[in-house]
Amino acid sequence: MSRKPIIAGNWKMNLVRSEAEKVFEGVKEFVNDYTAQQLPTIVIAPVFTSISAVRTVKCNCGCGGNKISIAGQNCHWEKSGAYTGEISVEMLADAGCDYVIIGHSERRQYFAETDEMINKKAKAILAGGLIPIICCGETLEQREAGITDKWISGQIKAALEGISSEDVAKSVIAYEPIWAIGTGKTCDSDEANRVIAMIRSVVKEVAGAEAADAIRILYGGSVKPSTIAEQMSKSDIDGALVGGASLKAESFNEIIANTMKVACNV
Ligand code: 13P
Repeated sequence: MSRKPIIAGNWKMNLVRSEAEKVFEGVKEFVNDYTAQQLPTIVIAPVFTSISAVRTVKCNCGCGGNKISIAGQNCHWEKSGAYTGEISVEMLADAGCDYVIIGHSERRQYFAETDEMINKKAKAILAGGLIPIICCGETLEQREAGITDKWISGQIKAALEGISSEDVAKSVIAYEPIWAIGTGKTCDSDEANRVIAMIRSVVKEVAGAEAADAIRILYGGSVKPSTIAEQMSKSDIDGALVGGASLKAESFNEIIANTMKVACNV
């Protein structure tokens, strides 16, 4: 099966509204020349207060697709209630989001998110009609101790626990080795592909072959315009979750353009 590539920009805690609007306009200008079918799935995840500055861009060719979709960077699993500082799936959908990033290593590390919370969030996102982008990844210590595969497969099994195969198939996973995030050190693309293929085999084990074939699994960690073509040429890497290089339209657009050269039908 050919899986449509995804290029997702995780803006983390960056860009106030005016800055967000500027980057968004730059990306919008780039996608203007293409149809949604020619482009990878493009997702931008701004801070909550900048979501309204960064709208979904619908394709005007009649295909019904989006040229740019929006993601929340986090959500709560409850629908509403006394959870100061949190945001629900319905609120994100209401603000125009189609995706929600969950389980990012920064949230696991600084905000004590557990696998169990990530599983509850994934279920709430899917129940609300949105798509979770479930992050996983190992620390350098875990990699050096030789427990990368065991660790990642545990994270994936826990995140997907109790989710139907149909819902798993439409979900997105992002493999982000923690030592490659924001460090400029990308994971060797053959090794990233190996881990991602391993993740796909775990998905097959828990949700069946069809879901494993359909689910899109991204690589994240110091992705740059100069690294993306090689990463996208690998058998199991379906796209990228981009941090730093998504904060400027020029570099994000170059990542999209280089993806299209190797993985889209333009
Ligand atoms: P960088 O691309 O800045 O390394 O960030 C990766 C990331 O954490 C995306 O979610």
